[in-house]
Amino acid sequence: MNNAIYNFPLPDNELVLGYKKDSPEREQLEKEIQRQLLNPIEIPLIIGGVEVRTAQTGQVRMPHQHSHILATYFKAGEKEVQMAIDAAMVAHRVWSDLSWTVRASILLKAAELISGKYRAVMNAATMLGQSKNIFQAEIDSVCETIDFLKFNAYFISQIYEMQPRSAYNQLNKMEFRPLEGFVFTVSPFNFTSIASNLNMAPVMMGNTTVWKPATTALLSNYYLMKIFQEAGLPDGVINFIPGSGALIGKVALASPDLAGIHFTGSNATFNHLWKQVALQLPHYKSYPRLIGETGGKNFIFVHPTADAKEVAVNAYRGAFEYQGQKCSAVSRMYVPLSLWPEVKSELIRISSDASMGNVTDTGNFINAVIDEGSFDNCMSYISYAITSDDAEIIAGGHGDKSIGYFVEPTIIVTTNPKFKSMEEEIFGPVLTLYVYDDDKLQETIELCNTTSPYGLTGAVFSRDRVAASYMCEQLRYAAGNFYINDKPTGAIVGLQPFGGSRASGTNDKAGGEFNLIRWVSPRTIKETFQPATEYRYGYMME
Ligand code: NAD
Repeated sequence: MNNAIYNFPLPDNELVLGYKKDSPEREQLEKEIQRQLLNPIEIPLIIGGVEVRTAQTGQVRMPHQHSHILATYFKAGEKEVQMAIDAAMVAHRVWSDLSWTVRASILLKAAELISGKYRAVMNAATMLGQSKNIFQAEIDSVCETIDFLKFNAYFISQIYEMQPRSAYNQLNKMEFRPLEGFVFTVSPFNFTSIASNLNMAPVMMGNTTVWKPATTALLSNYYLMKIFQEAGLPDGVINFIPGSGALIGKVALASPDLAGIHFTGSNATFNHLWKQVALQLPHYKSYPRLIGETGGKNFIFVHPTADAKEVAVNAYRGAFEYQGQKCSAVSRMYVPLSLWPEVKSELIRISSDASMGNVTDTGNFINAVIDEGSFDNCMSYISYAITSDDAEIIAGGHGDKSIGYFVEPTIIVTTNPKFKSMEEEIFGPVLTLYVYDDDKLQETIELCNTTSPYGLTGAVFSRDRVAASYMCEQLRYAAGNFYINDKPTGAIVGLQPFGGSRASGTNDKAGGEFNLIRWVSPRTIKETFQPATEYRYGYMME
């Protein structure tokens, strides 16, 4: 047994490559895109390391050209979900006992594989399957995925170092036990890196998982799973089971061995899972840990001293990059009347300049929304605004789903601060804006704080640093990730740990030690060197 004490150093964040024309990374990526376009694949379930094919299949299509099929996938039935739980329980015996440095080394190898050998594969799959442009795919499926893996290895060494003091006649130790059972991981479509981390954070801490990936992110998620296997992840540590969320969730939550849920997705789904767990509580061996990051109604609040151009550029990027489908995307904004003409003309200028289309055309800033359901949902909010007396559309407002699910980045200006699209999460390229009187700053801050049930991200723009600090105080619970003079998207692992409160989730800060610590159930071990031999205390014998 090698008993050296290891220390994983604080890593650097993965560098974002430039993908300029004729660069080697661009050439490789273009080749890989062609390969994936021309060769549709089969996506089996992977249970206990074994590929499983069922009678139920579905298709993975490109959101920006929905006639194009990228893959055929197999769907889990009840039997396969049970097989996945059993495989996770068997793998738990070995994995939870394995030296943590071996576990960390497997994660670090996965990071290296993504950084080099599979960089183009991950990017191409995320671009084609989830309709991300090169930059959006690179910062997500490559850089953030690698950062999560590397930073987790660093944070685990910090966690294991946390030990209690030992006093006279005793030795105290803290053992960081993995949870007793399996972790059910449920991932969203919008970030490949989140799908990776939802599994790899509990896995790093010695747990095993049953993974329900989002159907609309299956291509990249399947490649991820294959990379984890190549990195040396033992069979059964992660069990990949695509299929219906409702069916898989029902079977997973019925197991007495459910030790935790690691979830990212909508509020409605997380609330449903939480309620189901509550209903079946007496049936579980332990209280399942429920960790979920959910929706948002993220804001930019503009102070009258702000720079109009900075506001417009950051609002546009924050609201419309990846078609507004980032959990952190700006979707409501408060602008003072004095700055509005300048902010408005700048927003309109950028809107008429930014182009929308296929991900393979590098000139496009905007691509397609994820599927028909999302397209219809966005268009219903746009139609509502068109027919409302208290709203006006100043940019965008159209959509076309004949070839791909394209929704124009749309800016709604409303005179009603409680307008439907100021309150509800749309999760698409729709930004609603309320112009306030400069002398109503305090009331408008209060409106911003109370308009939505969420508390994920928010930003203030101000050149008056004292005012910025005041707004930061006033909006203390309105966002778990708060920005001063920046867009509220683009959190980086190790720099801005991510998560929101209120209805936005349990705020366990993905990519940090707060999250990792939820995946252990510590055991305190006290050893006494000279046990007592007399039951009476000294004063009783006087
Ligand atoms: P979603 O809730 O529709 O789906 C998330 C996952 O849950 C999918 O894999 C889906 O198949 C699964 N699912 C659905 N019903 C289920 C059930 N009954 N049992 C088990 N699993 C079930 O969310 P989405 O559309 O994939 O993602 C968009 C949402 O995710 C938005 O609300 C967004 O704000 C949120 N999100 C939040 C964060 C964050 O960090 N706060 C990050 C990314 C996305």
